[in-house]
Amino acid sequence: MRKTAFSLVALVSAMSAVSILSSCAQEKPGYKDTPILPGQKWHVHDPDRPVPPLVTPGETFSHGAPPPSDAIVLFDGKDLSKWRIDRGDARWKVENGYMEVVKDSGSIRTRDDFGDFQLHLEFATPVKVEGSSQGRGNSGIYLCGRYEVQVLDSYNNPTYPDGQLGALYGQFPPLATVPKKPGEWQSYDIFFESPRWDENKKLIKPASVTVILNGVVLHHKKEFIGGSTHRELPVYRPHPPKGPIVLQDHGNPTRFRNIWIRNLGEYDQP
Ligand code: MG
Repeated sequence: MRKTAFSLVALVSAMSAVSILSSCAQEKPGYKDTPILPGQKWHVHDPDRPVPPLVTPGETFSHGAPPPSDAIVLFDGKDLSKWRIDRGDARWKVENGYMEVVKDSGSIRTRDDFGDFQLHLEFATPVKVEGSSQGRGNSGIYLCGRYEVQVLDSYNNPTYPDGQLGALYGQFPPLATVPKKPGEWQSYDIFFESPRWDENKKLIKPASVTVILNGVVLHHKKEFIGGSTHRELPVYRPHPPKGPIVLQDHGNPTRFRNIWIRNLGEYDQP
């Protein structure tokens, strides 16, 4: 009898171990009911995709990087004159040399369009940690208005790897996990070439990007699968070779400072 009771206890505890394991698995953020990404074995936002290795960055890589003489300064800490929303002026907060997302005031976009460029930008996720996964310190940088390099508080904040800080959102996780603490300034240096189509609207050159976060290369000449989407397959839709830089309002008060851009030149041009 005692043996039976023991076996029962063992069985029950084994079952609860299984149930704890499965509930842990269920708690891993992500989706399994989404399409498989082309050329990969992962679902869009797959929770089982490996988390990129953790790298501790140097403290101040490219912080305060002064713009070269031919750069276009998009934000110098003073005003949002180079930015707008779809219908009107940008309404994010500007103080102490940074701009800050104002919830529900809309994503902001540059008034000018850019195609192939070098972009420098610094950001800080909110000091006050609220939410989890995609709800924590979420913003993003949309290149050509369509191709998102993710901004997220990825400091001890599990999420699906193709949505963590530095991901090409919904397409590729970064090569490394390089988070800083909430509220600490971080730098992005991004080199982008926009996609091109021929006269028959056939894609002849995908969008590609090199991304350096806090001095660590996260992507090198990586080609986007298409425009950024949530829970869907990315697709390319023809657009002009130039488009705006868009900073995402995802409802979290993320800050940005020192933003400048240079159009990539061409060889053998005077
Ligand atoms: Mg985002």
